[in-house]
Amino acid sequence: MPIKIKREAAGQGIIDQVKALSGIDVNACLQCKKCTNGCPVSGFTSSSPSEIIKKLQLGAGEELLDSEIIWVCSSCATCFSRCPMEINMAEVMDALRARGAAKPQGNMPLMNKLLLGTIKTFGRTYDLGAMVLYKAGTASYAKDLDKLPMILKKGKIALLPPHGADKKMVKRIFNNLEKTRKKST
Ligand code: SF4
Ligand code: SF4
Repeated sequence: MPIKIKREAAGQGIIDQVKALSGIDVNACLQCKKCTNGCPVSGFTSSSPSEIIKKLQLGAGEELLDSEIIWVCSSCATCFSRCPMEINMAEVMDALRARGAAKPQGNMPLMNKLLLGTIKTFGRTYDLGAMVLYKAGTASYAKDLDKLPMILKKGKIALLPPHGADKKMVKRIFNNLEKTRKKST
């Protein structure tokens, strides 16, 4: 599908801000699309990680920030592990979120915030903790509760919080990100 950039919205601003926030130069992208082919969520959204990069390279402006995948990205880093140029799309997505991507309707931003909160606290994601807080925040206690025993039985999520992570280092990353964000606004 051809990528279209609105001429009136074009500009270097966002690509520069992504670089300032994430330290990533997306101009290194070769458009091999290995990231998109491995991305677990791009099939459910109207855009893909490689398309976001291409749009940044082409000078997309504010219109780019409406892309749903910026919020749907689960920061799984599959794209990063496949990328021959070591472009960390999860960090690019974080930078775009920080840059002010349009928050979608629904509860994705809440889930994103809660998962990041567990990383900040434990050094790794604690899915069950984020789920409990999500259900409290959305008053959806009963929804999908019947699936929980099967999820636990299959070991898909852990009952106890993760341990063993370098919490100090993770905290430092969050603090540095916050400082960079303040500088760029
Ligand atoms: S895998 Fe890397 S180089 Fe290939 S399209 Fe994705 S970001 Fe670009
Ligand atoms: S980090 Fe985001 S963009 Fe990359 S593969 Fe995972 S969900 Fe897709």
